Amino acid sequence: MKSCNKSISELRRDLVSGTWVAFATGRKFRPNAHDATPHVSDNLDDPKDCPFCKENIDRQKQEKDLLIYMDKKGDWSLRVFPNKFPIFCSETKDPARREMGPFEVMNGVGYHEILVTVDHRKNFPDLSVPKIVEVFDAYQDRYLALMNRKNIKYISIFKNYGKSAGASIVHPHNQIVAMPVIDPDVARSLHGSAKYFQAHKECVHCTMMEWERESGERIVFENEEFSVVCPFVSRVSFEIRIYPKRHLSYFERITAEQKIKLSEAVKFALGKVKHNLDDPDYNMFLHTAPCDGQAYDHYHWHLEIFPKTSIWAGLELSTGMEVCSVLPEEAAKILRK
Ligand SMILES: [Zn+2]
Ligand SMILES: [Zn+2]
Ligand SMILES: [Zn+2]
Repeated sequence: MKSCNKSISELRRDLVSGTWVAFATGRKFRPNAHDATPHVSDNLDDPKDCPFCKENIDRQKQEKDLLIYMDKKGDWSLRVFPNKFPIFCSETKDPARREMGPFEVMNGVGYHEILVTVDHRKNFPDLSVPKIVEVFDAYQDRYLALMNRKNIKYISIFKNYGKSAGASIVHPHNQIVAMPVIDPDVARSLHGSAKYFQAHKECVHCTMMEWERESGERIVFENEEFSVVCPFVSRVSFEIRIYPKRHLSYFERITAEQKIKLSEAVKFALGKVKHNLDDPDYNMFLHTAPCDGQAYDHYHWHLEIFPKTSIWAGLELSTGMEVCSVLPEEAAKILRK
């Protein structure tokens, strides 16, 4: 990718916490990179100026599509292409893990892709179930395409909705980031579920969900394959998790039938977020087993939705302890309405 040259990213590891931080300097040129105003409305709200709208994207054609789904009329309905402002870059081939003084540093080898659905105004709650299934088809297609590439250890797929959630472009889009390290947040939760499994011979997520289903208090939605819940220990107000009911570790193995059921669950959950919470910004992301060649059968994949109803402040930043102003029992009641 052309734009990679000027924006090769570097990973630096914190000496105390072990956390990797990606320095992707080319990203400061992306739209609204330094504008912290938490409102969606800006000039990119107009489809005429939108880089992801059909006419503009067809005209640009500078990026090769990695995936394109066509509708019956011969128009594209979904496409995946490389991010113009990548956090990880496929042009750098060698991670070249090295020391700098007491620090560990490596090149940001990887892939960063954008998944765009055609309609400028239609987000998950407004799309039909078959159109949401297409999005999860694309998640799976790209996951399978990237998971065995050299140096790739983890693939993160997420959606930012609204400026305060980090979306610099209004047009509905998802991002797929394949990275050469397992990020510390994921590592912590993998470690936690492995430890629980060793101690109890049972999946921690299955145990939690079984208890949630028995109580029903925090369940927002259920179908044959998925449960939508406001977790007992929510980290933010109105946090939502979507779990497969069966113990499944690897998202990329999802079946066609499960994708339909997942799409129903996502449509329901995000529809409630939009209508019952006054359309807040949010982040939605996939947590699944890494693709670094190890076995993670103790893990249980899921989607998480974090509505932006408050901003991290001093206590969170200084201690990592989050303060949640709404009980999940109350949140689930409001979302179920
Ligand atoms: Zn658009
Ligand atoms: Zn499980
Ligand atoms: Zn998670």
